Amino acid sequence: MAAFTIVDHEYDVVVVGAGGAGLRATFGMVQQGFKTACITKVFPTRSHTVAAQGGVAASLGNIGEDNWQWHMYDTVKGSDWLGDQDAIEYMCREAVPAIRELEHSGVPFSRTPEGKIYQRPFGGHMRNFGEAPVQRACAAADRTGHAILHTLYQQSLKYKAEFFIEFFAIDLIMEDGVCRGVVAIDMATGTIHRYKAHMVVIATGGYGRAYFSCTSAHTCTGDGNAMAARAGLPLQDMEFVQFHPTGVYGAGVLITEGSRGEGGYLTNSNGERFMERYAPTAKDLASRDVVSRSMTLEIREGRGVGPEKDHIFLHLEHLGAEVLHQRLPGITESARVFAGVDATKAPIPVLPTVHYNMGGIPTNYMAEVIRPTKDNPDATIPGLMAIGEAASVSVHGANRLGANSLLDIVVFGRAAALRCKDIIKKGAPHKPLAKDAADLALSRLERIRTANGSQTTAMIRKQMQRTMQNDAAVFRASKTLKEGMDKMKEIAATLSDLKVSDRSLIFNTDLIEALELENLMACALTTITGAEARHESRGGHAHEDFPNRDDDNWMKHTLAWVDDKWNVKLDYRPVHAYTLTNEVQYIKPKARVY
Ligand SMILES: Cc1cc2nc3c(=O)[nH]c(=O)nc-3n(C[C@H](O)[C@H](O)[C@H](O)COP(=O)(O)OP(=O)(O)OC[C@H]3O[C@@H](n4cnc5c(N)ncnc54)[C@H](O)[C@@H]3O)c2cc1C
Repeated sequence: MAAFTIVDHEYDVVVVGAGGAGLRATFGMVQQGFKTACITKVFPTRSHTVAAQGGVAASLGNIGEDNWQWHMYDTVKGSDWLGDQDAIEYMCREAVPAIRELEHSGVPFSRTPEGKIYQRPFGGHMRNFGEAPVQRACAAADRTGHAILHTLYQQSLKYKAEFFIEFFAIDLIMEDGVCRGVVAIDMATGTIHRYKAHMVVIATGGYGRAYFSCTSAHTCTGDGNAMAARAGLPLQDMEFVQFHPTGVYGAGVLITEGSRGEGGYLTNSNGERFMERYAPTAKDLASRDVVSRSMTLEIREGRGVGPEKDHIFLHLEHLGAEVLHQRLPGITESARVFAGVDATKAPIPVLPTVHYNMGGIPTNYMAEVIRPTKDNPDATIPGLMAIGEAASVSVHGANRLGANSLLDIVVFGRAAALRCKDIIKKGAPHKPLAKDAADLALSRLERIRTANGSQTTAMIRKQMQRTMQNDAAVFRASKTLKEGMDKMKEIAATLSDLKVSDRSLIFNTDLIEALELENLMACALTTITGAEARHESRGGHAHEDFPNRDDDNWMKHTLAWVDDKWNVKLDYRPVHAYTLTNEVQYIKPKARVY
């Protein structure tokens, strides 16, 4: 093995990831006085959160009446009853103070004429238990994620969090079922850093890049999920992948749902506003799974637009240049750059595109990672938390409502810090680590760095992305899922024939991309295996052979373990069919009416 230079560190808390979730946790941890490190593979303000456009949900009621109980009802319904209702109650309740805190920390929200935070309608967010759309998404124009991320980074610096930037976390350090820390490589120098911590918080974001066409950044490679999987922990509900209805055709770049919130609408080749047929009440603002499926059906039935009849039009031109300039400047530019369309004059060509991963590392509403035991499906693992898109709390269940993810990252980033105050002690001494504590990470690093097969990362990655795009798509069927699963196993096996050409340790992007590919593979395999097994349709999982939701047999979370031979094992755990307090009652499953 190469003689790596190893540097040791000790912290109370190590946060892996500096997106909205990681920064909110980091900022909360340092505020509580914990010695905190934040490790991130990209500069904090380049994390994918920066691309979030439309808004962050909270029932502030600034423009029309609203309350957290309505928000909770919409979120449970949006989750298609797979969300844990205790966690959903917590999130919707805490949304209001969490957004106020963001405002006081300096997030430059857009304003109403009276100076309150501007709120826009968003898909699935309704008034009075589904009656009519409500204005609940707090927005900073169409750059809400940008505004939040920059503010959180500034606050973290103010409170003197220690950042390790362009450090790539490789693996967790586990000892006797407890998480003791994490191993990372400094990409600039190739030195290895071994962090001891009383709490490791995984905040590494989603894994959209397991698919060919997605709205997420190239860095969304599910690293934290795979680190948990390699530590022998299960991933939860990975089969639920959200397709956003409006990715720019051909480019995948997102056009926010806020554009429909501001009055935009979709048409087919007959010029028909077809969403009126599929969702008579919510129409173009129905939840994303519904809109994506409706668009796919229109295209399948020959009513797509364009020469190939393979996409749909999004109209914003009737809103007028002034509204577009003021409320949606970013997407007007995206339409021009990526579709060559002037959105003030012509419709934007769009297509459902992979956007969000509902599944991830299972946690409770206090961000603690769950490792179920025989007698306790909610048992937690000491020393490990997960938050943000890497986690499955599960507040989004089978389908996330728009504007609920920026909310999830701030609420549960904050919850992680609040929980640490109760369960770990500032400055408590660390036990020494076992001598071989970094061995798992280093042997993996070395195996990949010296990989001398015949297939490049790009070749294997492309096959994986194509297979996932074709066989685990908006609509799924037993036959294609089974074929896709078998193909994915073969593709994963080709990783043993991987070729990495660059053997150096200084900014070796060949090596880092190969590490990311292995991480994506664990995510892709658990996604397609979970999907193949789930014989029902729910939320983002639309199964053509089982078109109905089956609460008797399938109202349960999937757990998926993946071993080092890429075998996936499945099990299930119950959905939390209870609330956190007795102020609200459990919302019983109902058929969804749109
Ligand atoms: C285009 C787009 C628009 C969106 N718009 C909205 C919206 O309007 N409203 C809404 O609610 N949601 C929106 N979402 C979803 C939401 O933005 C994301 O789910 C959320 O921001 C994820 O935040 P995160 O902190 O979990 O992860 P990210 O922001 O993805 O951050 C992940 C962090 O982990 C770090 N990291 C990853 N792997 C490693 C590793 N191995 N070592 C070290 N560091 C690592 C990265 O450097 C990064 O700092 C949007 C998503 C996209 C893609």
